[in-house]
Parts: sequence; structure tokens; C-alpha cells
Amino acid sequence: MRPRTTSPDKEAGWLSCRTCGVSIRERVLKRGESLRCKRCGEVVMIHRTDDSFHASCALGMTGVCMALLANVYPIMTFAVAGNTQSNLIITGGQKLIDQGYWPISVLVIFCAIAAPALYFASVAYVSACCLGWKLPAGRFALHVAGFMESWSLIPVFAIACVVAVVKLDMIGTVAWKVGIGWIVLLAAVSLGLSRVFDEDSAERRLEGRP
Ligand SMILES: [Zn+2]
Repeated sequence: MRPRTTSPDKEAGWLSCRTCGVSIRERVLKRGESLRCKRCGEVVMIHRTDDSFHASCALGMTGVCMALLANVYPIMTFAVAGNTQSNLIITGGQKLIDQGYWPISVLVIFCAIAAPALYFASVAYVSACCLGWKLPAGRFALHVAGFMESWSLIPVFAIACVVAVVKLDMIGTVAWKVGIGWIVLLAAVSLGLSRVFDEDSAERRLEGRP
């Protein structure tokens, strides 16, 4: 679980450990310092500066560009009995619709395409707001980022692709294409962004609090 900088009883200057629930006194941290729960060792607070918003803004914009590239380039080609098919991320969703599984198709397309793109875009937008850009609806974008983070399953999709290739290789010939590279990089950016971007810090900044 990601370390936070505030908690429900933050008004009193106390943090709650999200793992074990023990109350921990909030402190002013220096660069590189973090506050850990004495009971379970969970990191409950880490030092953040404008640097983290610069990083999350850059990673968010990088993620949007990579999401575009990952959707444009084929992930793999699959050849069986003389037929060769090129597969994009959306191909799986289309096949599910063809087979009548449209609710699952909508879920796959949302988690693999829409949610990651909206997550990266909203984090970049909120980070830009936190860095002083006068942009409207920063709080709304923060809510979107929080919601989309849970539904953005690009790292899971990257692993699923590898597992699928192992299975497909038993019945035909599979060749990796450049799209898989973008998906792996996108998964790395997604994991990095979830470490760098902190919703509570962003909320404080948007409200003009320290
Ligand atoms: Zn704890």
C-alpha cells in the first residue's frame, strides 16, 4: 500500500497507520526521510516536495504518449494453418464482442485502454495544477485520478500477454511485435507513477494548505 501524508484524524496532527490502525504523531520530515509505524513497520508518511509533482507530471504525460503508441502498434502476430493475424490491444475486446461476451469486452477495453489513458492524463493535469498552473477543475481531475488508478490494469495486461503467448505457441506460431515493448514500458511508468504521485499531497496543495 502506498504511504500517505494525511489521515482521517489529520486535523489533530495525527496519522493512522492504514495497516494496523495505530495512531502516529505527524512530523515535519526532511528530504529523503520517511515515517514508519512502530508496530508494523508500514511507511505512513514520506517527504514530498515540488519535485514529486514535476516527476508525476512528466510521468503522466509520458504515459499518455505511450498509451497512444501501445494502442497503435500490434502486440504480436499469430499464425496457424496458413492464417496470420496481427493483434492490437483492442483486438481481444473485438473478439469477445464477436463471441457475444460484450460485458466482459467492455470491462477489458475499459481496464486496458480507457482507464490507463485517463489515469495518466488526470495525474498529469492535477500535477500541473499543483505546480501553479491556473487550470480549472483540478479537484475533479484528482477524483478521476483516484478512481482510475484502481481500474488501470496495464501491468496485469502485460503479464497476461506473456501467459497468452505461452499458450498460443502450443497451437501456432507467435511472433512478438513492437507493441509489446510499449506495453511493458507503460506498465513500468504506471508502477512508477503510483509510487511518485500522492493524492493527499495533491489535495493539500489544491486547497492551498502546506
Ligand atoms: Zn502499523
